[in-house]
Amino acid sequence: MQPCCTIDHEGSPPTCPMNGQKCKPVGRITLENLLKSEARASMKIQPYYFCDAPDCDTVYVSALGDHLVTKDQLTVRVGIKETENPIPLCYCFGFDRKAVWNDIRSKAATNIPRIITERVKAGECRCDVTNPSGTCCLGNVYRAVKQAQAMRQQGLL
Ligand SMILES: [Zn+2]
Repeated sequence: MQPCCTIDHEGSPPTCPMNGQKCKPVGRITLENLLKSEARASMKIQPYYFCDAPDCDTVYVSALGDHLVTKDQLTVRVGIKETENPIPLCYCFGFDRKAVWNDIRSKAATNIPRIITERVKAGECRCDVTNPSGTCCLGNVYRAVKQAQAMRQQGLL
């Protein structure tokens, strides 16, 4: 699947100082839209990168590693870093993990990925300003569907 929102960047992304994992490029516009005002005011004139590790509270790292933004400094919950509801999956159209789980629990299938795909094709997504990763949510949505299906098979859902 071709992601609907791509990010231009140059150079090698920094690693997250908290967990040493390589970060992913993210547009400045994403931070400008999702950071609380105090954190936004501390932004450096540098590119920023996104840490997608579930076990790390750091969400963004500046290119030089001298500014870290933690998840409590965002106006939205970072679904990938949360274990308790609500766990947002799709920020543009408002689907969370609970919606996926409810579908899988009640009918073993879900049309949420199809709905998102259709709305993305219609040009309605705004991942760069709604999703903390700044990119399309579909990868995470498909992962949540697979996880829910596996849990259902094991009688855990
Ligand atoms: Zn991290």
